[in-house]
Amino acid sequence: PAAGTPLLKVDQAERRFGGLIAVNKVSFDVNAGEILGLIGPNGAGKSTMFNLLTGALQTNSGSITFAGKDITRTRQSNIAQAGIARTFQHVKLRPKMTLLDNVMLGAYPRTHTGLFSGLFRLNRAEEASARYDALQQLERVGLGDKPFELAGNLPLGNQRILEIARALAADPVLLVLDEPAAGLRRGEKQQLAALLKSLRDNDKLTILLVEHDMEFVMGLVDRLVVMDFGEKLIEGQPEAVREDPRVQEAYLGG
Ligand code: ADP
Ligand code: MG
Repeated sequence: PAAGTPLLKVDQAERRFGGLIAVNKVSFDVNAGEILGLIGPNGAGKSTMFNLLTGALQTNSGSITFAGKDITRTRQSNIAQAGIARTFQHVKLRPKMTLLDNVMLGAYPRTHTGLFSGLFRLNRAEEASARYDALQQLERVGLGDKPFELAGNLPLGNQRILEIARALAADPVLLVLDEPAAGLRRGEKQQLAALLKSLRDNDKLTILLVEHDMEFVMGLVDRLVVMDFGEKLIEGQPEAVREDPRVQEAYLGG
């Protein structure tokens, strides 16, 4: 879709766990070319919403449309193939594998469960090409200088960035991140924010950023959607949202 028009549409999405309504008829759009922040206090339903979007969980009702296609019942692997890439709230890299191999795995979203099955099926020319592509992704995120370092040796901030490189290897249209700034130092957060801006501005990637950390999203996102107790509280421009008394109350646990 053209910049500024809806790429992802969430319409009245609902998800229950037993008697608990984790996501209660939430609707919002992510427009092509923007960074949309989905924020809210702990337990608001952000990760559940993230899992609905990426196909890790099914909705009980409501619909999700991506690039004009209904993906409400689409399986996770097919959502990845349709062009939505995700990262995980808790880093799920292969710590004893190199940066390069971690990124190469990202190019095969279909083989997520059978880890090596995709890589082993490549012939030598294909593998060389995959290796070259992975190196390009590492360079794109600023980790191109040490491709053979083990992922587990990186500081946390760089591990998060490596995870983004791995997500980019699948060549997504929409990148969905769950709390990428959690636990990072101030300098690491700044580096991450600069990368996300560059992906939007230079690579025309659309990004949905699920975050608890309000300060991290300010100055980075184009718009904010706030969830609280499973419901959408408000959406709008970052500054206006931050000043809204309902948001302040939700964040102070009022
Ligand atoms: P957030 O990411 O905003 O912190 P979550 O989406 O993780 O919120 O959780 C929203 C609510 O749903 C919480 O009350 C949480 O305990 C509950 N919840 C999340 N996942 C499950 C699950 N798999 N089973 C039962 N309850 C869950
Ligand atoms: Mg969460």
